[in-house]
Amino acid sequence: MERTKPAPASSNHFIKQIVAEDLKSGKVKEIVTRFPPEPNGYLHIGHAKSICLNFEVADEFNGRTHLRFDDTNPLKEDTEYVESIKEDVLWLGFDWEKLFFASDFFEEMYNRAVLLIKKGQAYVCDLSADDIRKTRGTLTEPGQDSPFRSRSVEENLDLFERMRKGEFQNGEKVLRAKIDMASPNLNMRDPVLYRISHAHHHNTGDKWCIYPMYDYAHPLEDAIEGVTHSICTLEFADHRPLYDWVIRACEMDCVPQQYEFARLNVTNTVMSKRKLKQLVDEQVVDGWDDPRMPTISGLRRRGYTPEAIREFCREIGVAKANSTVDEKLLEHFIREDLKLKAPRTMAVLQPLKIVITNYPEGQVEMLEAEINSENEEMGVRHIPFSREIYVEQDDFMEEPVKGYHRLFPGNEVRLKHAYFIKCEEVVKDEAGQVIELRCTYDPETKSGSGFTGRKVKGTIHWVEATQARKAEFRLYEPLILDASAGESDSFLDNLNPQSFVSVQGYVEDNMKDAAGHDKFQFFRHGYFNVDPKHTSAEKLVFNRIVSLKSSFDATKGKG
Ligand code: ATP
Ligand code: MG
Repeated sequence: MERTKPAPASSNHFIKQIVAEDLKSGKVKEIVTRFPPEPNGYLHIGHAKSICLNFEVADEFNGRTHLRFDDTNPLKEDTEYVESIKEDVLWLGFDWEKLFFASDFFEEMYNRAVLLIKKGQAYVCDLSADDIRKTRGTLTEPGQDSPFRSRSVEENLDLFERMRKGEFQNGEKVLRAKIDMASPNLNMRDPVLYRISHAHHHNTGDKWCIYPMYDYAHPLEDAIEGVTHSICTLEFADHRPLYDWVIRACEMDCVPQQYEFARLNVTNTVMSKRKLKQLVDEQVVDGWDDPRMPTISGLRRRGYTPEAIREFCREIGVAKANSTVDEKLLEHFIREDLKLKAPRTMAVLQPLKIVITNYPEGQVEMLEAEINSENEEMGVRHIPFSREIYVEQDDFMEEPVKGYHRLFPGNEVRLKHAYFIKCEEVVKDEAGQVIELRCTYDPETKSGSGFTGRKVKGTIHWVEATQARKAEFRLYEPLILDASAGESDSFLDNLNPQSFVSVQGYVEDNMKDAAGHDKFQFFRHGYFNVDPKHTSAEKLVFNRIVSLKSSFDATKGKG
């Protein structure tokens, strides 16, 4: 298979180097990676980093990637999450070679546990979770042997079978590995391999009441699937000896290797399914796909593209030290992606009516404008212009501050793609609120006519009033006020009350066919996405993806 798109140099990370060496030395014949989410929530941008890494490494070396649901905790998991995860991985542009559920392997895992018992490497322990913790020792002190550590193989086999049959209550017994209670690595001090949980499982129903622990299940899943490079995040580095122990002790044919890379953290948001679920459950946000959420589904609804997310993941790279990436770097990549793709039109978010008193009543002329001034290939569009238009309220100041070049009494501005207009009269309601401006226009100044008679300093956007279409604009700011507060458990105390604001305004009539996920650049306002959830035949709703400019320097964006 030929690669059409060479990977940028920055993506030549340590995992790729390991893979390249393993292929060269003949240690492995074919690369197999996996993306192993637990279906206990929707995927977030951190998962996207792991997805890109696993799929792109395998792809580059002509290998394979599996999608595997790590469904070993029935209490927290659900098929809703399974379906959303599949959708998100596909949407990001990746397709798995094979799909697995850890629960497909429960029987084999059970048999391997029986093997461990027979070899004297596992025992049934009656200590409570609390007592197991208390007798585990500390970094400076060894743990204490469980009084059940010396049970006979026969007794262990009998008890383990009865655990499976459901003869015991939750927490009454566990199966533990018999390794070393004095190991300097606490993970090796007789870790729990199986727990009892009388719970209904979304995949296996009521077939099982004992469930394997992550540290036991994960290496076995990898080995059963034939995974060669098991890539996980740094917090599992201390678990690696246990990972290797399980593979060896269970006598697996395939010996996968675990490698750890740094988690992605992004400023001003939360990045853990547990916390994201809290935001959903406490109705701080409008579901997992709320456009403020760092979930893949939230980013999609906000208007992010798979291309922008993939480029972002490449840019941040794969490192061995944790860091936090500025959310503005993500914004940078969506601007880059939409710059040449998104049609550019005008929208007025907070309208103020203007009547052009010297423009003929009843006349509507069509003005021509390029659809994207940076991409001629997109062609031209036609915009109606007439005696009545809307402009932004803040493009007018009755008493202008110094340096204000937009509309104020007596001042002339350029209407984008149209004419110069001059503010002649301000109309107010009884309460003194400005409700309308009366202006005159100069027919000589038509855009594109080559007029050079005089210059004006301000250019403002507008929408023709009689044909304008009402639209709702949803404007977003980061969910969390403080850059790093999302990492703490008290993140709910740092919510940004301004994270969502809705305004009612107008778009050009040529937007009437805009449908779910169409993206536009609204002159001066930024990039917007048609909200697929709220837009209907009667109502256009736009999510602002990102404003146009930022003071952000992309070259310094990596934390
Ligand atoms: P969370 O705490 O958000 O639930 P998790 O690690 O428990 O995260 P899993 O469903 O177990 O979530 O993750 C699937 C894969 O995605 C794992 O290999 C995990 O290491 C990786 N992953 C999860 N979060 C991140 C992140 N922030 N950055 C990079 N990779 C991540
Ligand atoms: Mg998890």
